Amino acid sequence: MITRFQNDKTFALEMDSTDPLKDFRDRFYIPLQNNGEPCIYFCGNSLGLQPKAARAHIEQELKDWERLGVDGHFHAKRPWLDYHEYLTEKTAKIVGAMPVEVVNMNSLTVNLHLMMVTFYRPTPSRHKILIERGAFPSDQYAVNSQIRFHNYDPSSSLIEMSPREGEDTIHTEDIEKKISEEGGSIALVLFGSVNYYTGQVFDIERITKAAHAKGCTVGFDLAHAAGNIILKLHEWGSDFAVWCTYKYLNAGPGSIAGCFVNERHLANSDLKRFAGWWGHDKKTRFLMGPDFQPIPSAEGWQLSNPSIIQLAALNASLEIFDEAGMDKLQKKSELLTSYLEYLIMDLNSDQIDIITPSDVSKRGCQLSVRFKQNGKRMFQKLIDYGVICDWREPDVIRLAPVPLYNSFIDVYSFVQNLKQNI
Ligand SMILES: *Cc1c(COP(=O)(O)O)cnc(C)c1O
Repeated sequence: MITRFQNDKTFALEMDSTDPLKDFRDRFYIPLQNNGEPCIYFCGNSLGLQPKAARAHIEQELKDWERLGVDGHFHAKRPWLDYHEYLTEKTAKIVGAMPVEVVNMNSLTVNLHLMMVTFYRPTPSRHKILIERGAFPSDQYAVNSQIRFHNYDPSSSLIEMSPREGEDTIHTEDIEKKISEEGGSIALVLFGSVNYYTGQVFDIERITKAAHAKGCTVGFDLAHAAGNIILKLHEWGSDFAVWCTYKYLNAGPGSIAGCFVNERHLANSDLKRFAGWWGHDKKTRFLMGPDFQPIPSAEGWQLSNPSIIQLAALNASLEIFDEAGMDKLQKKSELLTSYLEYLIMDLNSDQIDIITPSDVSKRGCQLSVRFKQNGKRMFQKLIDYGVICDWREPDVIRLAPVPLYNSFIDVYSFVQNLKQNI
């Protein structure tokens, strides 16, 4: 770290005034406290803030629908028929993929199931799924139900990888060892990319390599990674990945999700999949024939025509990401999160522990702080003060200073408040 941090307000203000991304904060609505001041919003890992441009993007589609009805499919300002294609390049940049490898469709858990339909093909000798222990509940339900769907039993087909005794996060070499020992019976390796609870970043490249060496398919849930850390999905070679767009990608509650299928699978029309008309070859889709011809891209996994309103909101946000650039965002993210870490450590409190890795290459912009006692009370005090962050049972507060709209003074003021209440 080149910057020497200082624990004072002038330093925080100075960092803000020299921040090359400082103007992006104004492109978002920051929720207000009762006193009319903006709150300190550290919850972008859960629901990203609204880009001001989202309204105009959505209103354009409402207007075209008002004006044109069904003709909007062809004559809207951005014709709806291939509206999702406006987002493809920008989406590919966010996750480091080729444009043919990505598509926005459905919601995250739906996409996870669709990907498992294709990439989890258990056999009596290879039927297991390896996941991290403490994966997000929806992912746990999804893998358990997929195992049962194929008439296997999670008690013998699910392997959950735990941290070492007394530790909170998992060593990559332990994952590699597990895969090398048990890979012969593992059909699918499925990991988060950033664990939602600890904020740990998993090494997609090394996990993918280890899984493929043992003949397993491998996929990642990027819910907490997309728009947060630099991803190179194509280069890292996993078979698939899925993510939502309402967390760091700021596309609005429940908005349309993303999906990546590695190029090597795209031409293989024999892959088993659940099919729908929007995945069918565009040239013959409207001939409405009975035989399914998948589009030879990630779009071949689409089922339905997508919600244009949701795509419009996502498009507004992706334009901002495109302008800011993931490289610059990553740089600010490292500084901002490290500043938060530095200030918390400077409290010298034996009441709190940061469970997120201190190595910046193993985390994004989230710090998970464990309170040895009175955590819930502290959380309530933070809310009263105008901080929006979240509490995770049994004892963790998650804080996510987001480089697009959070400032160094947000971080400084937050820790000042923590100090008064600890
Ligand atoms: C947020 C999140 C989800 C939510 O799934 P939805 O289908 O979007 O409701 C699933 N998995 C992970 C890892 C998440 O962080």
